[in-house]
Amino acid sequence: MVKRESIVEYKVEPIGLIHSCYREKFGIPRQPGLVKSAQGAIEVLPPCDREEMFKELDSFSHIWLQFLFHEAVSDGWRPTVRPPWLGGQKRVGLFASRSPHRPNFLGLSVVRYRGLRKEKGKLFLDISELDLLDGTPILDIKPYVPYSDRLEGATSGFVQFAEKQVVVTFASEAESACQQYQKISGRDLKTLIREVLEQDPRPASQRHKQREYGMLLWEMNVRWLAEENSFTVLSVQEEGRD
Ligand code: SAM
Repeated sequence: MVKRESIVEYKVEPIGLIHSCYREKFGIPRQPGLVKSAQGAIEVLPPCDREEMFKELDSFSHIWLQFLFHEAVSDGWRPTVRPPWLGGQKRVGLFASRSPHRPNFLGLSVVRYRGLRKEKGKLFLDISELDLLDGTPILDIKPYVPYSDRLEGATSGFVQFAEKQVVVTFASEAESACQQYQKISGRDLKTLIREVLEQDPRPASQRHKQREYGMLLWEMNVRWLAEENSFTVLSVQEEGRD
């Protein structure tokens, strides 16, 4: 039997930091792979910023990321949670959930790997389809290996894939702001907004109310009106501008 005293304490240090289109928690999809146009990069930190450590990684389309839910730590955790999949009504055990609020605040996501890049002496791994907040500390990176990671016949209990039922439209001002932003940055902000809203980021308790919301994607503030299952993007403005 393992004695608790024999377990050695071990300090974990981040090997990288995430740069993400998601600049705040609200709006981030509940899992990776759901928003195809979500983009980001891992800035690899010393002593791991050596290209040799990533040799052959470009032969993999996807990578596993282990990370710290750094913005959940100050809120602590509870033994049971109310997952959004159950409409926020029913409690399940924390370990039957993917909640960020857990004893070691560790997260696990599989994301698309886009390749390695060097910029101003720093090493970056470009990724997409992520579900991570900007600034998230990365603790480890491993290749996704379909032959063993893809499990035929796996079941997922109460977590069911939600059909997209949300209709997203853009006010003309918001649409031209997206076009303008794309000209300057090269980023397809309109598609990102649409895909994020199609995941319906509202808390389950607010799904039947008409309400205006704001979220930050890249450096742009996006305001949208939710009416049942129809969302209208009202404005897209640079952060800090009224
Ligand atoms: N795929 C991961 C997992 O299963 O461990 C994350 C799933 S968790 C349900 C996804 C949510 O975590 C996102 O919607 C976002 O609100 C939140 N999140 C992402 N990065 C975070 C961070 N660094 N700190 C706190 N919360 C974060």
